[in-house]
This record gives sequence, structure tokens and C-alpha cells, in this order.
Amino acid sequence: MRVLILGGTTEASELTRLLAADKRFNVTLSLAGRTASPKTQPVPTRVGGFGGSDGLVAWLKQNATQAVIDATHPYADQISSNVVVACARLAIPLASIVRPAWERQPGDSWLPVASAEAAADVLGPNPRRVFLTLGRLELGTFASSPHHHYIARTIDPPGDVALPPDIKLLSGRGPFDLQAETTLLKQEKVDVLVSKNSGGTATYAKIEAARNLGIPVVMMARPPKLHGHAVENAEAAMIWLEQQLAHRTTSCSARGV
Ligand code: NAP
Repeated sequence: MRVLILGGTTEASELTRLLAADKRFNVTLSLAGRTASPKTQPVPTRVGGFGGSDGLVAWLKQNATQAVIDATHPYADQISSNVVVACARLAIPLASIVRPAWERQPGDSWLPVASAEAAADVLGPNPRRVFLTLGRLELGTFASSPHHHYIARTIDPPGDVALPPDIKLLSGRGPFDLQAETTLLKQEKVDVLVSKNSGGTATYAKIEAARNLGIPVVMMARPPKLHGHAVENAEAAMIWLEQQLAHRTTSCSARGV
């Protein structure tokens, strides 16, 4: 069965590992190309946008794709919308890994905001030491609140993004552990953290560390994201693929092909 996985997440990497050695599946992983040196994957990988839902339809047809797994990040809403449209047009089965959001725990002090712009506003008029754990492309938004000292951690350097004037750049790729995150928040004297509600375990330690240290978290809301058949993780996506395969085999035998 020819499968496309839309990736860029831990779950996509887990699923490619599960599928790589399984001869029943012929898998392609697709990455947007946002990081300069993505982790090497054990399946053929294509990089870059498809050109909207029309481009994706063309790619799926050209590659005779029989099932798609959307394993993109909870904040990657455009590609998910495109794949829902494309799969519906071609009647290709689609499952989406929907990563549960983090829930507020006792001791958490979260300020929910709708966007990076709203996060920059809510930091207020008094200078603060702000830890930004967002994508590099979102850092530019904080140039509108230049009076804070920022510490920003990204996978790749921000490149030509116009940054706030007082910013310390750190590079790092999850998973991160609680001890290291606690040390970092203390060393940098962070008094507010800005985060997406990414869910999962890889980047949760900063939320726990902030809770333990009594540091407030400006939490950016998730965008509404379209999805196909919802599954919770890579294992569940694998089971769904096996069901699709069994279904195809049964319908082919019934038709005598
Ligand atoms: P997005 O806003 O939903 O997508 C913007 C455009 O990027 C899409 O229309 C598509 O271009 C292209 N694209 C996105 N994901 C793709 C993929 N897996 N394969 C091929 N093209 C893709 O996405 P985003 O928020 O920029 O995220 C980009 C990638 O980074 C995603 O793969 C996501 O899983 C990963 N990621 C995102 C975040 C985050 O916070 N947003 C965090 C961690 C990882 P075309 O329309 O030209 O096809």
C-alpha cells in the first residue's frame, strides 16, 4: 500500500520507524523544509510545499497514493486543511494524529492568548525577562514590544527575521528534561515564559519547571485544525493503516482482482 505521511513531528518520526521495515507499506515522508538539517529518516523523504491543495492532489495522483497520515504539528493548520480537501477530492482515506493538548495543573499560572501578537501585548509596559519557545518565524512579532529582554530558543538560527533589540538566542531541539529546563529558567532569571500548547512529552519540561518556580506562562491557543479520522499516536495510526490494507485486500478479493 502506498502511503504518504505529512511530518515534521515526533509522531511522524515514530510512525516512519514502525513502517520502515514493513514490506506491506511503501511509504513517503513529506517535510515542509523549515529546518535546515532535519533528522535522517528511514523512509524516502520529499521536502517542500506541494503548492496548495491542487498541488497536493497532483502529487497524490502522480504517486498513486492509497492512504495518507497527517502527522503534522497542532499549529500547522494550513497543510491539514489542504490535505483534508485533497483526500476528499480523490476519495483517499486520511487519518490524522491529533495530539492532546496540555491541561492546566494545580500550581500552573497560565495566561491564555489567541496569537503571538496577543502574547507580545500581554507582556505589558514594564520590562520583563521573557523566555520565547516559539518557531523562529514568530520571533519577529516581539519586535513590537522592544522594552523586554528576550531569551529565544529555536532549532535553527532565526535568519533574516527582524528581531527585538534585546534578545539572547539559544539553539536546541527537544526532548528537553526537567532539570535542564529548571536550571535554564533560573540562570536566565526568566520571569515569564511564552509557549504554544504543543502537547506531548518532548517539550513539556519547561511547563513543569515554570510551575515549580512560580513563573507564569503566556499560552498561545491552538488554531482550529481540520482532520481526517482522528488517532492519538503513531501506534494507533499504524493500526488504522493495517485496517485500510485489510479492507483493500477484502474488496479486491470480493471483486476477483
Ligand atoms: P502550515 O502553516 O500548516 O503550512 C504552510 C505551508 O507549508 C503549507 O501550505 C504547505 O505548503 C507547507 N507544508 C507544511 N507542512 C508540510 C509538510 N509536512 N510537507 C510539505 N509541505 C508542508 O505549517 P507550519 O506551521 O508552517 O509548519 C510547517 C511544518 O513544521 C509542518 O510539517 C509541521 O508539522 C512542522 N512543525 C510546525 C510547528 C508549528 O509550531 N507550526 C512546530 C513543530 C513542527 P503548500 O501549500 O505549498 O503545500
